[in-house]
Amino acid sequence: MIRFENVTKVYDQKSRPALDGIDLEIDRGDFTFLVGPSGSGKSTFLRLVLREERSSSGDVYVAGKNVARVPSWRVPRLRRGIGVVFQDFRLLPNKDVFGNVAFAMQVIGKSRYLIRETVPEVIKLVGLEGKEHRMPHELSGGEQQRVAIARAIVNKPGILLADEPTGNLDPATSVGIMNILDKVNQNGTTVVMATHDDDIVNSMRRRVIELADGRVVRDEKSGEYTAMI
Ligand code: ADP
Ligand code: ADP
Repeated sequence: MIRFENVTKVYDQKSRPALDGIDLEIDRGDFTFLVGPSGSGKSTFLRLVLREERSSSGDVYVAGKNVARVPSWRVPRLRRGIGVVFQDFRLLPNKDVFGNVAFAMQVIGKSRYLIRETVPEVIKLVGLEGKEHRMPHELSGGEQQRVAIARAIVNKPGILLADEPTGNLDPATSVGIMNILDKVNQNGTTVVMATHDDDIVNSMRRRVIELADGRVVRDEKSGEYTAMI
């Protein structure tokens, strides 16, 4: 589903590469943790998958396509197949829960009928039924992250990228978010989650790819993690 072939990313010629010769493959349907200290290259990895950045050398393939060869007018379509969740939620502050999720369908031209049918299902999946008309500022951090996940998956992407999705949440709330990501994965979505939350990595026992200074230093099928920050 995602393949990196000897990928190097240099932002700035004077400093070391942000990613340095990354070779790895993430299969369809996998749940993968991307771990490592701040500055190790996790966000750069995710940005390359989204083609928000381009590699300096080497190739990135997403769903069989070399992303560097996707013409820029087709990049939106590439990104439509990838849901993204961030540490800071990034909801639209002037839209309620329903509106935030619906917006992701509206911008790609889905019909009002399909939106009315799909949005409540996804809101239910993330456990927010009854809160459709709350505004983001009326929700807890965990609830806001659930809205963000609902928005990220409402168009049924093949891939969900999560960049420190539990970084602003307390441990109990984080467990709830992980249960939802697990459910999304069980529904067939390939999930890649960047994190330095070792409790979560250790409780999930999924694949762990560890980066340090832009290199893969460990790749384990059902790994653990000890954060040293
Ligand atoms: P992580 O997500 O693990 O914290 P990043 O991918 O953000 O790591 O960063 C990897 C390295 O690349 C760091 O040294 C960071 O300072 C650098 N970097 C990230 N983004 C940029 C950018 N836009 N311009 C220059 N350097 C960057
Ligand atoms: P995080 O690891 O917390 O997700 P990032 O490392 O992605 O944060 O940085 C947040 C933003 O700052 C990104 O847009 C990234 O491009 C930019 N950035 C990060 N490091 C640098 C840097 N050394 N120089 C310039 N921009 C940077």
